[in-house]
Amino acid sequence: MDISKIMEIIVKLFGSKKSEVKSNDKPPKKAQDIAKKFEKTTGKATKIWKVGDKLSPHFSYDEMTRSQTAERNSIDNTPKVEQVDNLIALCENVLEPVRVHFKNPATVTSGFRCIELNRKIGSTDRSQHTKGEAADFVINGSPTVTDVWKWIIDSDLDFDQVIQEFGRWVHVSYKRSGENRHKCSIAKKVDGKTRYFHYTEEQIENEEYEL
Ligand SMILES: [Zn+2]
Repeated sequence: MDISKIMEIIVKLFGSKKSEVKSNDKPPKKAQDIAKKFEKTTGKATKIWKVGDKLSPHFSYDEMTRSQTAERNSIDNTPKVEQVDNLIALCENVLEPVRVHFKNPATVTSGFRCIELNRKIGSTDRSQHTKGEAADFVINGSPTVTDVWKWIIDSDLDFDQVIQEFGRWVHVSYKRSGENRHKCSIAKKVDGKTRYFHYTEEQIENEEYEL
């Protein structure tokens, strides 16, 4: 009896991990490949992303895409793959470090908004929310909206734009490609209209701004 016959008997008797792999099995596809194929055929981001999934340790897919306005108006606010990738970058590069610094949970009031939803709430098509590059949020507990806004500006974090909006929440954006401009603004209602006041990072560090 030759050695291969002996091996065959041993495998039959005791089993082997090898025996579980059929020779015609294809290697498993990467999740991203499946996602891309799904998007190509349906125009939607893959259902791989679902309620409860995390985009970063403290931020979930659900909270970054959920919208009461979308639900009320039956708008499908499912992001595409690229928009999910942008949301992940925003969470990892800005929201997560802010959350970790203040050691308090964040409440995201608005994350990704598809064009239909974005128009419904009266925002412009150029809004970074439509790309998954922006989120509006507050940090629960003691830090004020201005504290959070100022901390982002004074930190070493890279961001595209950060706006303290009406003293009620912080809007922050991050771009995966192109330059992150570090634009710092305060949004206020003046005679019922929204106005943006822009400052340099230096002005904000020196507290030369008006709330
Ligand atoms: Zn916003």
